[in-house]
Amino acid sequence: MYTCQVCNYSTKNASSYKRHLDSLKHKKKLESLCTPIANTDSSKSNSQVKTVNIDIESKAIAVLEEKIKILIQHNKTIENNYNQMRQEQLSMKKRMEKIGKYLSLVCKASNEINQL
Ligand SMILES: [Zn+2]
Repeated sequence: MYTCQVCNYSTKNASSYKRHLDSLKHKKKLESLCTPIANTDSSKSNSQVKTVNIDIESKAIAVLEEKIKILIQHNKTIENNYNQMRQEQLSMKKRMEKIGKYLSLVCKASNEINQL
């Protein structure tokens, strides 16, 4: 699903979404986003312009919130992977210590055999 938050337009089709982004309607809306004060004409009251801006701002915030949610999810996945890796590292370390102990026992035994 492709959604244009600026125009409140959504489509399942990638090519029609692309066409929408190229459309005059979308470009004009985007332009009005960039220069909200310049587009103010005497027929519009100030409060109307403000309402439009707040509406667009809340849409932008909604988009950001969605992105933050995705980032938090990613972060959790990374954290889980990290914890798993740490666990594996710890068990590896323990195994290496055990192998070290066995090796020193073997060395000791072979030294004792040589002295016989
Ligand atoms: Zn649009």
